[in-house]
Amino acid sequence: MAAFNTEKVLSVHHWTDAYFTFTCTRDESLRFENGQFVMVGLMVDGKPLMRAYSVASANYEEHLEFFSIKVQDGPLTSHLQHLKVGDDVLISKKPTGTLVAGDLNPGKHLYLLSTGTGIAPFLAVTKDPDIYDMFEKVILVHGVRYQKDLAYYDRFTRELPNDEYLGEIVRDKLIYYPIVSREDYLHHGRLTDLMRSGKLFDDIGLPKINPQDDRAMLCGSPAMLKDTRQVLNDFGLVESPKVGVRGDFLIERAFVDQ
Ligand SMILES: Cc1cc2nc3c(=O)[nH]c(=O)nc-3n(C[C@H](O)[C@H](O)[C@H](O)COP(=O)(O)OP(=O)(O)OC[C@H]3O[C@@H](n4cnc5c(N)ncnc54)[C@H](O)[C@@H]3O)c2cc1C
Repeated sequence: MAAFNTEKVLSVHHWTDAYFTFTCTRDESLRFENGQFVMVGLMVDGKPLMRAYSVASANYEEHLEFFSIKVQDGPLTSHLQHLKVGDDVLISKKPTGTLVAGDLNPGKHLYLLSTGTGIAPFLAVTKDPDIYDMFEKVILVHGVRYQKDLAYYDRFTRELPNDEYLGEIVRDKLIYYPIVSREDYLHHGRLTDLMRSGKLFDDIGLPKINPQDDRAMLCGSPAMLKDTRQVLNDFGLVESPKVGVRGDFLIERAFVDQ
């Protein structure tokens, strides 16, 4: 039996020359937890070429959504960025990953800390009603280089707060905090600097992260994860050592540096 299903592309949206989003059909047997990833790919030279992708749609949605980088000479994304509606795309049958809320110790505030495509798993997590039952506040932090890279800005400022089902709870509990590092912006700089200086917490009106109240999930580049892990350790939070073992924070790589 093949390890993947062949799905049909339903929509493609190009945000910039570096990022795009596509949706595709979902096999009804595919079950996943919000925050998990699957392998996504294409047939290239007669063989499946697969890469890890966080599922950006929530686990109760009919279709699958993915938020992708375009690496110009990347083996997969140099092809994937040319996807058209109706094309075939391969999706693995076994979702996996560390960003599952059940592995977090109970807490009051959940910080979803991301850079670049690292926001992808949190696109699913922020649509999960259970997350809002578990936490009083959910803070989505998205760091990018330029303002134009703030894909999904409208999702968090307009669409989700007005969503028919989630709108009320999102307005009450979700705080969206976009950060731009390379040009002037309301929240300017690096995520870790804004945390260490305390500016991020002043801006959102919450106390500095502490191990009694605060939990976090991290997804970004290897460098971002290393620095942010250190910041959280310095605040006294303990990382979950592996899937199935609880901790104060969980980490997933948004990509592997080669
Ligand atoms: C657990 C996990 C989840 C992932 N989820 C996503 C996702 O939701 N969306 C996504 O676009 N990618 C995601 N990736 C990265 C993805 O697997 C591929 O690396 C990416 O699609 C590029 O594939 P490629 O074959 O074109 O280039 P690759 O040979 O895979 O990568 C080439 C180089 O491009 C850079 N790069 C790759 N991916 C990224 C990225 N996302 N952001 C910035 N630089 C990158 C790195 O320097 C890498 O060494 C994930 C990776 C992991 C490990």
